[in-house]
Amino acid sequence: MTTRLKSYVSGEWFLGEGDGTPLINPSTGQEIARASTVGLDCKSALHYSRSVGGPAIRAMSFADRGAMLQSMAEALHAHREELLALSTESGGNTRGDAKFDIDGGIQTLSAYAKMVGKLGEGKFLIDGDSIRLSRSPRFVGRHVQLPLPGVAIHINAFNFPIWGFAEKAAVALGAGMPICVKPATSTSALTARAMAILIEAGVAPNGVLSMICGGAGDLLEHVTPQDVVAFTGSAATAAMLRSMPSIVNQSVRVNVEADSLNAAVLGPDVEPGSVLWDLFLMEVGKDMTQKAGQKCTAMRRLFVPANQVDQMKSDLSQELDSLQMGNPTVKGVRVGPVATASQWKDTQAGIAELMEHCDCVHGEIGRGNLVDEELANGYFQTPVLLVANDPDSAETVHHREVFGPVATLMPYDGLAQSASTLVQKGGGTLVTSVYSDDRTFASEMMMQLVPYSGRLNFASRKVAEHSMGPGTVLPTLVHGGPGRAGGGEELGGLRGLSFYMQRTALQGDDPMLAKMLELGTQV
Ligand code: NAP
Repeated sequence: MTTRLKSYVSGEWFLGEGDGTPLINPSTGQEIARASTVGLDCKSALHYSRSVGGPAIRAMSFADRGAMLQSMAEALHAHREELLALSTESGGNTRGDAKFDIDGGIQTLSAYAKMVGKLGEGKFLIDGDSIRLSRSPRFVGRHVQLPLPGVAIHINAFNFPIWGFAEKAAVALGAGMPICVKPATSTSALTARAMAILIEAGVAPNGVLSMICGGAGDLLEHVTPQDVVAFTGSAATAAMLRSMPSIVNQSVRVNVEADSLNAAVLGPDVEPGSVLWDLFLMEVGKDMTQKAGQKCTAMRRLFVPANQVDQMKSDLSQELDSLQMGNPTVKGVRVGPVATASQWKDTQAGIAELMEHCDCVHGEIGRGNLVDEELANGYFQTPVLLVANDPDSAETVHHREVFGPVATLMPYDGLAQSASTLVQKGGGTLVTSVYSDDRTFASEMMMQLVPYSGRLNFASRKVAEHSMGPGTVLPTLVHGGPGRAGGGEELGGLRGLSFYMQRTALQGDDPMLAKMLELGTQV
């Protein structure tokens, strides 16, 4: 019998009515579970989080919240093997891809457990020093940040059911807000299991954790000005949610992590066969195929000096040939299927659109020569490398995100100005990588690209062996990007807490303010 996934709201498990939405194993096309939110009272669920979970978490010190995050990390780690297996079944992930999501989530919780725990016994943040406001040294200004007394609504994309949940949860809970998580329905089986583990382990006070498994229904119609919405997903859904009257009319804070046409630029100083050339090959190959290319940070546009394009085409094709596509449960397989039927259709349509402006160097639309009866109904797409010889006029390459194992190689004239102008055509990226030992080139790229990028990854020979590639999002660095990438910002160590807190200026008598701030932690 098919598993029926439940939501966890108002301190209890809720089973939705009706047939629900089927969740499919993307390797085999077989149904593994169903999810429904029909009959779920979103208004009451949010009220419960605010009125029960909110006071409980605000009463905890930062040290307590850090300990809670550490317990969450440990509870998930204790079930790591089970979660890895479920990630393969429910998301088509190879073991390596599953680890990227699950270990990444656990590590992010642990990292925030330490950062938040170090803030000690305070319950709010004292932001900066005392500022003298008049002739009297007693009349001063201060800034404080207190957690918002609402609920943090986290709407996540399908590609990272654990990391996506954990990276938002760690920051919101650290700041002192209860959370309501809404994973993407298609891969929600994994988040649902993680939530069950956390509830069984009793890691958080009642009302602090809740989860809506299935369609969001009217969830966002019940937000209040003290709630926040952190969204990860497509630009189209983000635009729709952002413009909802309940959000606009109450100035509800919304953070958006959307899609992005991330870029990589090979510097003019990098010779074939050099350390940086090989790093570029390895990191592009990994980005195109890890999680079957379904990574918001994956490099989609590759800019290479014109005189190196032919060599790069051949070396990258060879690199991709070495990465086997197939059954993600089999050891040695590096490329699994994309996660859903609609994702598969969209990937194929996207490649076809790009092919109108590009030549295909490697791969083809569809599953290629993958013959395995068990996988006949799986959503497999061969890695596809394209080349656009005139990147200036190939607008589609700069605008169409193909969320699969696809990238486009493009020539530039070797000048930083030209490369950065081409990168900027993407309208704002989560991450852009520059592979070069030329400090002048790298500096010019930095000056041109900061306003267009959430993160700039500079790969040079001296740090090549430490590179984790641009695809890895770190808890200590900000994640998000301007424009096309959603205009949001998450993580970044303690910086991330501010989204979940109100920063308020206080004016008054210095000793009186000092008394009020006794329960705060100075940052
Ligand atoms: P999506 O279709 O936009 O869905 C994202 C989330 O929004 C899902 O949980 C979805 O729920 C929910 N949603 C849809 N309509 C809603 C509504 N009316 N009210 C509330 N929630 C609603 O995106 P996706 O296909 O899952 O994700 C792929 C995209 O995410 C890609 O474009 C990728 O670039 C982007 N992404 C960005 C980042 C980043 O950090 N910047 C990370 C990962 C992915 P249902 O599943 O129930 O429809």
